[in-house]
Amino acid sequence: MKEDCIFCKIINNEIPREVIYEDDSFIVFPSNQPVADIHWLIVPKKHTETFLDLGGETLEMTKIAQNLIKEKGLTDAYRLCFNGGKYQEVMHVHLHLVQTIQTKLAEAMKAHDENTVSTLRLLLSAFNYEQIAKQHELTEEEELAVIRKEVKQRRDSIEAYDKAGRGDLSEKEKIELDILSTYLPPEMSDEDLSKLVDEAVLAVKPAGMQDMGKVIGFVKGKAPNADGGKIAQLVKAKLG
Ligand SMILES: [Zn+2]
Repeated sequence: MKEDCIFCKIINNEIPREVIYEDDSFIVFPSNQPVADIHWLIVPKKHTETFLDLGGETLEMTKIAQNLIKEKGLTDAYRLCFNGGKYQEVMHVHLHLVQTIQTKLAEAMKAHDENTVSTLRLLLSAFNYEQIAKQHELTEEEELAVIRKEVKQRRDSIEAYDKAGRGDLSEKEKIELDILSTYLPPEMSDEDLSKLVDEAVLAVKPAGMQDMGKVIGFVKGKAPNADGGKIAQLVKAKLG
């Protein structure tokens, strides 16, 4: 047990989390970033900093993964992965078991769900493009950033089409927006967002409208999924 380790706190039940599997030495719980439908973390209960500190546990962890894959019937595309070095988000070693968007795409194709197929294809190509630009496998945070960008593009188009009286064109964008939004964590309520704007004003102490960007930046830092347009509106109302 390490005091400031979030995984140790989950293991100690100080932070409640759904448990997928547990024995004396290991625990499996979902990642809190739902980019993919299934993303489970197989974690040794003993605080172990990195992959390099593991011994025979690696074999036991992959055995647990094998059993979960069989038991839960993850017969389509899945991926097992240890992260290390600078991309590690929590310094308590864990094995990721992930079933990807590719699986979703395959399901949608079987179901002839054309909207989902085209939206997921666009999303996967956006991931691919970003991966080439970054020259490494995307972390979940980077995947989320891509999805947010795609969501923002749809929102902007819908606004532009609706303004131009072209509801017929915004319809497809709305369908794609709905599908993409399912891959983002839940958004903040308007009330919570408004409270966050109050907090930002107290923290930033804006001199006036000229500091609007700083206040928006503070809010976006705390609520990266919130609609930028909505934030700007609230900040403007508060400063105006
Ligand atoms: Zn730990």
